Amino acid sequence: MLEGTQPVTASIDGLKLALSFNGNIVNTRQLRNETNKRFADLPYTCDSDLVCRKLLLEVKEHKDLTSAVSECMKNIDGAFSVTGITEDGDFFAFKDPHGIKPLCAGHSPDEATYAFSSETVSLDMNGFERDFELEPGELVTVSKDGFKREQVIKNPRKAFCAFEYAYFARPDSRFDGKYVYEIREEFGRNIVREYPEIVEDSDIILSVPETGDDPAMGVHEESGLRWERASRRHRYVTERAFILLNRERCSTIDRKINILGSKVDGKRLIVTEDSIVRGDTTKVTIGKLRSAGAKKVYMFVTFPRIIGPCFYGIDMSTYGQLIGSDHSAEEIAKIIGADAVCYQSIDGLVRATGQTRDQLCLACITGKYPTPLAQKMADEMKKKFIKGYEEKGRIYETCETSQQA
Ligand code: SF4
Repeated sequence: MLEGTQPVTASIDGLKLALSFNGNIVNTRQLRNETNKRFADLPYTCDSDLVCRKLLLEVKEHKDLTSAVSECMKNIDGAFSVTGITEDGDFFAFKDPHGIKPLCAGHSPDEATYAFSSETVSLDMNGFERDFELEPGELVTVSKDGFKREQVIKNPRKAFCAFEYAYFARPDSRFDGKYVYEIREEFGRNIVREYPEIVEDSDIILSVPETGDDPAMGVHEESGLRWERASRRHRYVTERAFILLNRERCSTIDRKINILGSKVDGKRLIVTEDSIVRGDTTKVTIGKLRSAGAKKVYMFVTFPRIIGPCFYGIDMSTYGQLIGSDHSAEEIAKIIGADAVCYQSIDGLVRATGQTRDQLCLACITGKYPTPLAQKMADEMKKKFIKGYEEKGRIYETCETSQQA
């Protein structure tokens, strides 16, 4: 098996587990200290290893999977959607008590095979039918005794990642029966309603492909403005700019997006974008539009201003890297060269998802984290950041709270 790939495996005293994981663990240090004593000979490469080993230790201690999962849910702080298989061939899946990351269950048409997936799209593509989205704190087991759903922990409150709707999830996936692309279209309609004076001062809509495409459709429907496909994506540049290093990110965007100059020359543009994290890639796009002759560039951004880091699996883990942590929308517009940056409101975003505020994680846009350790770390680092402290890596690995956890 290639290093760093999933599933990960672990064994102890004749017990074995294989496990795949989506999310991010916040109390890594504590779990590493705990599991290192028993797995000293195994290298730690990722959070999946930690969860696998913690679960295995709990299975050994409690002798049954349900109690072991319950212990994991009580003792692991963070986001985790997990699938795995025991040495007896029992197939299982569970979600953290806040249900931060998606995880759904499905079955093959002959009902002979069950599957778990982060998104419904992979069930669709494999000809499986979707059964249900796992509840926060739920464990599902498929064994020779059949299919079993158990609410292992009563969740304090659901906190599904709101960023999934704007950026992360595929548009053809469904959450709670609603396609993500439909929600993104509604985001676009919302921004038009929220900024009528900007719409009035615009000629055409242009989207940053691909997560800007669905909101662009909504902007077009609500405003009546023409959506020009004036930015085209390079088919063979496939890296996700979001997860690359600074310089690579900008050059990737430069190679990935091509602007059709004749479409934008002399025009006042509304440009739809899913989010602004660091601002550097948006700046590159705007620079290209200006070079192509754009007269005005108004950014319509579907995810509200990101003011704090994410501890749950999205790689934006310090205040310093977030342009929105210490700049207003007006200041950001100046820095990236836009005439205005129009963020969708948090209320608009929440309404379009069909959820309520207290069913979503909105931590990176409100500063209110659903898990206690993450809140403590965010507060500690925010105070230091305001005083000019230079962050030296991911907060959950470097801050004092994490050292003590
Ligand atoms: S902090 Fe933001 S990106 Fe992270 S899980 Fe919450 S909503 Fe999603």
